Amino acid sequence: MATFCSFYYFCELLIALESALISTKMSYHLSAAKLKAYRRCPQAYYFQYERGLGAARYYNTTALGLALHQALAQFYGNWHYQTTHPDREWMDHCWANQSVDLSSTQAAEGQVLLQRYFDRFVLSQPAMRRPLGIEGRIQGYFQFEGLEFTLSGRYDRLDLSDHGLDLIDYKSARTVKLLDPNQVDLQLGLYYLALEQRYGRVLRSLNLIYLRTGEVQRIAATPEHRQQAIATIGRLAQRLRTDATWDPQPGDHCSSCTYAQYCPALHPSPEPLPQEAQKLGSLQLSLDL
Ligand code: SF4
Repeated sequence: MATFCSFYYFCELLIALESALISTKMSYHLSAAKLKAYRRCPQAYYFQYERGLGAARYYNTTALGLALHQALAQFYGNWHYQTTHPDREWMDHCWANQSVDLSSTQAAEGQVLLQRYFDRFVLSQPAMRRPLGIEGRIQGYFQFEGLEFTLSGRYDRLDLSDHGLDLIDYKSARTVKLLDPNQVDLQLGLYYLALEQRYGRVLRSLNLIYLRTGEVQRIAATPEHRQQAIATIGRLAQRLRTDATWDPQPGDHCSSCTYAQYCPALHPSPEPLPQEAQKLGSLQLSLDL
């Protein structure tokens, strides 16, 4: 399954973080998106994830985008690496395999995009190196605040160099929306943790390759990203353990918050949560740490 969904959204990104209580074997699923929501406002996090008031999310996937990802996976994954570069025909061959369900217009467009990719990102290098992983899954494990956590995530491609690991994320959206590096710090931190444990190497960068435009956005990963992720997870873990209140954190984001009518920070007498709100789980009460 390609991870053409953006790194930013992360299931898209699909980083999933699962904490299992040692004694009860109960689990609590987290994601980078959830951690970001928690850091922005614990009260809003509570409404969305603890009480199930979250809105549905729709991912911007297209058949062309999926086929492009699959073709690149085949391109890197099935090459024999006995010469410095594949022939251009190898890219055409991969595209022919993966574009059979597309319209002729899409197939032609995809071929142009991949040939440009070939020129820009393959031929421009001294040699094409075998990636460490393609459309892979990374997992990590650690203990924190008396809880066991496993982290897992997906990536399009993972490259290894003498300087560390580089994550590659292919983007197939028509419009390029460069990410604010400050907005992906948690995701980078989670990947940093998992890759460090799995490979014993540091994550050097996340590289977003925009297939339709040929642009590349490189975001450097640092140990600070790792520390930020640990700190945020730690605060959430502590909240889950202690049954503390989910403090509102008012700010500019309140103007677009869909839970404002329930929020005690904005309304002295907030509306009660709707009937369909989930009952609170017993996670906090059943902890045995
Ligand atoms: S209105 Fe503001 S403070 Fe209240 S839950 Fe929403 S984001 Fe948080």
